This record gives sequence, C-alpha cells and structure tokens, in this order.
Amino acid sequence: MKVNLEPTMNGKPRLRKAPASPVAPPVTQTPAAASPHRVNILMVDDTPENLIALEAVIAVLEQNIIQARSGEEALRLLLKHDFAVILLDVNMPGMNGFETASLIRQRKNSEHTPIIFVTAISTTETHMYKGYSLGAVDYIFTPVMPDVLRTKVGVFVELLKKTEEMKQQSEQLRLIEEKEHRRMLGEATERLELQTKRNRFFTLSIDMLAIAGFGGFFKQLNPTWQKVLGFSEEELYRTHLLDLVHTDDRESFQKQLLGVRAANAPGYFESRCNCRDGGYRWLDWTVAPFQEEELLYLFARDVTGRKRAEQEIKQLNEDLHQRALLLQTANSELQAEIQTRQRAEEALQESNAALEAFSYSVSHDLRAPLRAMQGFGKVLLEDYQTVLDEPGREYAMRIVSASTRMDQLIQDLLIFGRLGHTKLETKPIELDDLLREVLDSIAEELHERNAKVTVNTPLPMVMANKVTLGQVLMNLISNGCKFVASGVIPKVLVRHELIGDRVKLWIEDNGIGIPAEHHARIFGVFERLHGGDDYPGTGIGLAIVKKGIERMGGEVGVQSEPGNGSRFWILLPNAA
Ligand code: ADP
Repeated sequence: MKVNLEPTMNGKPRLRKAPASPVAPPVTQTPAAASPHRVNILMVDDTPENLIALEAVIAVLEQNIIQARSGEEALRLLLKHDFAVILLDVNMPGMNGFETASLIRQRKNSEHTPIIFVTAISTTETHMYKGYSLGAVDYIFTPVMPDVLRTKVGVFVELLKKTEEMKQQSEQLRLIEEKEHRRMLGEATERLELQTKRNRFFTLSIDMLAIAGFGGFFKQLNPTWQKVLGFSEEELYRTHLLDLVHTDDRESFQKQLLGVRAANAPGYFESRCNCRDGGYRWLDWTVAPFQEEELLYLFARDVTGRKRAEQEIKQLNEDLHQRALLLQTANSELQAEIQTRQRAEEALQESNAALEAFSYSVSHDLRAPLRAMQGFGKVLLEDYQTVLDEPGREYAMRIVSASTRMDQLIQDLLIFGRLGHTKLETKPIELDDLLREVLDSIAEELHERNAKVTVNTPLPMVMANKVTLGQVLMNLISNGCKFVASGVIPKVLVRHELIGDRVKLWIEDNGIGIPAEHHARIFGVFERLHGGDDYPGTGIGLAIVKKGIERMGGEVGVQSEPGNGSRFWILLPNAA
C-alpha cells in the first residue's frame, strides 16, 4: 500500500496510498521500556513510505511508535508489548489486515486492543462490516486526514493512559488496602495470641476460675472445677451456683453474694461445696461483681487440707483441754490420796511407835516371867529330882521346854515385827567374816546335831544390813541342819556365784527336801511343813529371811524336792 500526503484543509499533509516499494527500509522501533510515561502505538503496513507518513502524523502525540511490516511481525510484537492502538493496513500481501485482526483478537492479552483499519476510500461497505465484525473500532480511509488520524489515535492513547493510571491507582489502592488488611490481620493475630495466652492462665490455673451471670449460672469455667468437685463440665453449667454450696452454708453464701453485688466491690469468704461423690470441699472465695455486664468473676481455692488441719488442731486442743481437766481431777485425787496415805503413814508410824513400845514391853516384861518359869523349872529338875516322882519330873521338863519354846517364839516375832517397819541401812559386808560369826553363834546347836557346815571361801562382799543378813544366814543354816532324816549327818554347803553386779549365795543341805508345791508357802509366817519334836520351830524363820532380804533390795528362793536336800539362795548387790 502506498500512502500519499495531501495538503489538508488546515495545510497539514495528508496520507495517500503509494505503490509498494521493492526494497523495504528497516522498521524503526522505540522500546516501550525506554519511556515509561509513553504508551505504545503499533503501525502495521507493508509499505515503508506509508509507515513513515503515518508516523509523521502521530509523532506529535509523543508516544512510542512501533512499526510492523507484516501481519506476522505485528503478532510477534504483540507477544512482547501492550499497545494503546493498532493502525492496521487492510491490504497487505500474505496475511491481510483482517486475518491479522482476527488473530489479534484471539489472543488473550490483545483481545481488547483497539484496532483502526487503514484502507482505501474505495473499499466496499461489506469490507467495512467485515472489519467491524473482527473487532475494529474505527476505519481511516486513505488518503488520510492527519487531524482525524491524530485525534482518533490520540483518543486511544489517552484511553490507555487513563486505563493504566486507573490500574496504577487501583493497584496503589489495593496495596494500601492490603497493607491495612495485613496490619489489621497482624493486630487480630496478636490479640488472638494474647487471648490464647490469657486463656492458658485460665485453663492452667490451680485455682477454680469462673464467670457467672447475676442469674447464678456459669458462663465460663476452667477445668479445675471438675478436678476439685468431680462434676462434669455439663453438670456444672446446668447447676445453679447456690446448689453447689453445702446446705449448711447456703444461706450465708447467698448473703455474701448479695452483699458483694450491693457494694459493687469484691468480697472474700469461705464455704463448703458439694462434691459429686457426696462429700464436700472447703473453698476460699473471691467474688468480684461487674454491674454493667451483670457478671460475677469467681475465684475459688480448695482449702480443705488447711481446714481439716485446723479442725484437727482444734479437736486436738479440745482433747488436750479435756485431758488437762482429767489430769487436774486425777491430780486432785492423787493429792487427796497422798494426803490420805500421809495420814495413814503418820498413823502407821504412830502405831509402829506403839508397837515398838509394845515389843519392848513384851521382850522385857513378858520374857522375864518366862525366864523365871524356865529357871524354876530347871531348879525343880536339878535340886528336887529325888523329891519328885516320875510324873512330877515329866511335868517340870514340860514346863521348861514350853517356856523355852515360848521365849523363842516371842524373840522371833519381835525380830519379824521390827523388820516390818525398821528402815534397813545397808553397807558393804564381808561375807566370810559374817559367816564365821554366825557359825560361832550357833556352834552349840551344830555340835549337838553333829552337823558339818562347809563354806567355800573366799566369798565376795555384798551390800547388806549386817544384823539382818546375820539373822537370815543363821536361820537358813540352822534349817539346813535341822530338817534332815533321822540318822543322817547334816551337811550344809555355803557357796556363791556372780550374776552381773549381784551375788547369789547358795545354802545347800542334804536334808529331807521340800515338795515343789510348798516352795512359795514356806516363806509365810507360821507356815510349817514339819513339826513336832523331830523338827521343833516357830514357823517364822523363813518369813524373817524373805522380809529381811527384800528390805535389803534382794531376792530369795529355793530349789528342792523330797529326799534330795534343799538349795536355798539369796541374791544381793555386789559391793565390790
Ligand atoms: P521353822 O524352822 O521354825 O519350822 P521356818 O519358817 O524356818 O520355820 O520353816 C518353815 C518350814 O519350812 C519348816 O517348818 C519346814 O517344814 C520347812 N523347811 C524350812 N527349811 C527347810 C529345809 N532346809 N529342809 C526341809 N524343809 C525345810
């Protein structure tokens, strides 16, 4: 196509179609990226002169003008750039303008790009319709009127610019909105995180936390409620707060709640709360009312352990008090008892003194006539032997014998009686020495009985009262020599053994022995297993032994069986 410029009415050149030049000049292009404020205009024409002519007309618009010498080239450029408008020559060899336009419309990024067909004025109307049906927005007929072309192109340039501006503005708006949205999202996330963290406090708290309406039902509660009271979450939500409170505490709890609401200030109090297992727990409450929201913020702490400890202490205190009272009573009783005993002791001491006096009088006053009887009996037997007949002598012997026995009895009783109340003072005693003295004192009796007493010396020292121990040893040795079968020579052995810090002294004989069932009895006063002339005695000897040894802090016992002799023992503290 050849475009000739013709003078226009305002004197500017006009584009006219010229025959195609055999050698096409290189297409000049200004890349869109080079001038960002300009838009691209594509001119497609197979005739370089036409392109030059068209460029000359629209150059004044100061946009990027890109030229294409064929439909194919135009399509290639459309792949790279966006265009405000395409000036498309209809009559081109190869792919003509309509075919090019059809392909342009098929592409997504160029389906709305305005196309102005440049065609000869002679072109038929059918031709025009075809162009419009292919999406042409306008037709420019050659010869081109520069003003018209410039105006039309200018409109599309402006349109694209405005569109791009709007795009930019909307992009900016979008960016602003996006930024705002991000900021709001960030804030919301932060709020959510904070809330989540706060919720963690709520959930993890070992205290029971809850929010309840003024109506008395929970709106929110943490899991500690379930743990402490044993109810499920659902049960707690549908139970009225007052129904959770122990019946005995319900009235005061309700009063407290009303007080808190009336004062519009937090309240602190205690109450028992029912548990699912039928028991109850003691709770320490903090209740804060919020009038505007009509909400109660509840904090409850399980203080059952502390309460029970307090109650136990209270109970213990009461018990202690009770015991103290009992103790006081017992003390008074004890005091009374002590006083009674003291009085009894005093009375006893008095009666002991009286007894002492009585003993004295008995020993002196009673024994004197006895000794007279003995003496005169002996005189009768010795000096009036020839005067008295046989029965007379017999009676005189009986008088002497009976008075002697009675004297012995009185003496034994006096010794025994004294042991009952005399305080026995003990000191280290040489047993060897004491035994020698004892044997000397009963030498005559031993001689009469032809008895043989052996002492395994040396014996240790013991803590004892010398007189009493002498009496004890004398009685035991004397018994050992006395209770032997007739015709048997009495043999007594005294030996010892050490048991810890005590001395066990054995007095063993070869006598008649004692049946086991009588071992305890023979230590009682007047207890005698054998009597008569064979074994004379008073039955007080062993009673003196027992009482005397016990009053010195010792023990006494016997091992014996009939026919095998007896082994009496006494146990006394070692004085070494
Ligand atoms: P008494 O010697 O005056 O009879 P005791 O009190 O000394 O009284 O003894 C009580 C009784 O214990 C004696 O009568 C005797 O039956 C029995 N008895 C005491 N010592 C012996 C002994 N060594 N062997 C056998 N029997 C004894």
